[in-house]
Amino acid sequence: TTADPIDEEHRICVCVRARPLNKKELTMKDLDVITIPSKDVVMVHEPKQKVDLTRYLENQTFRFDYAFDDSADNDMVYRFTARPLVETIFERGMATCFAYGQTGSGKTHTMGGDFSGKNQDCSKGIYALAARDVFLMLKKPNYKKLDLNVYATFFEIYSGKVFDLLNRKAKLRVLEDGKQQVQVVGLQERDVKCTEDVLKLIEVGNSCRTSGQTSANAHSSRSHAVFQIILRRRGKMHGKFSLIDLAGNERGADTSSADRQTRLEGAEINKSLLALKECIRALGRNKPHTPFRASKLTQVLRDSFIGENSRTCMIATVSPGMASCENTLNTLRYANSVTQL
Ligand code: ADP
Ligand code: MG
Repeated sequence: TTADPIDEEHRICVCVRARPLNKKELTMKDLDVITIPSKDVVMVHEPKQKVDLTRYLENQTFRFDYAFDDSADNDMVYRFTARPLVETIFERGMATCFAYGQTGSGKTHTMGGDFSGKNQDCSKGIYALAARDVFLMLKKPNYKKLDLNVYATFFEIYSGKVFDLLNRKAKLRVLEDGKQQVQVVGLQERDVKCTEDVLKLIEVGNSCRTSGQTSANAHSSRSHAVFQIILRRRGKMHGKFSLIDLAGNERGADTSSADRQTRLEGAEINKSLLALKECIRALGRNKPHTPFRASKLTQVLRDSFIGENSRTCMIATVSPGMASCENTLNTLRYANSVTQL
């Protein structure tokens, strides 16, 4: 049962999600500069000043596959983004879903669920929603007869190094064999039988990810988290879904930081996000010059960017406040350039 090859247009889906103004922004009387006038259009109203100091709003319009305003919950976002990709992995394909955006814009809320308050809940994030649907699909007669097993991995890429979030942040080596097959040596691949098993792993991995963090400049905003759901048939890979909570994209400023380590991290993040864009754009087209090796992120995801049956989805998250305007525009421009093939 080989799936029909997917036409190029449907390989890549790019969406935008704007979160509501938060308490702090409301207290500071920050203005909401984003409107979503229809289900696929985002407008940014950027406050500007003329030479004679009169103020005006510069309106910029972007179009995507979908645009979600602050009334959309994770269920809604999931349904239009990652949900259609669950089928891909059952049809022996590779699926990837990225959350891209500035720190604080809602990437982790969207992918992992809510880890902010006291009532931590990962059951409503896209990781968990995708897992739930994988186990539902397994019960369908067509797939049941394939006798598939489900596994999960959860790791972090920080400053070009890979750490296993399911094994106390063990540092892992990445090897590439002569046939350009990439292997993360020793990565724990856990056997999962139901959604609850997956929820436990997300909790373990997430607490491992955020342990020892205090500030807004925390480690987790400077690392990419990769959660994978893998289907195997008699041990052999059948399909793989990679769900990625990317590092914050606001790193431009870091390149002038006084701290050398911060500068290096910023440069590494910029490099990986640029390589990612090129790899997505090359998706399924077997371009000889796709820069997989340009970053650890794209190197470990290599097999998801090639092949006839690969699909990807990007959820660009934006903060609505005027204070975030510049970062928001950068995010929207990046997302836009991914859609322009
Ligand atoms: P990021 O991972 O991009 O740095 P977070 O997901 O941690 O951002 O979100 C920052 C804060 O905003 C968190 O407290 C989170 O709960 C809240 N938040 C994010 N998106 C939404 C949303 N769509 N609705 C309500 N709260 C949100
Ligand atoms: Mg986060």
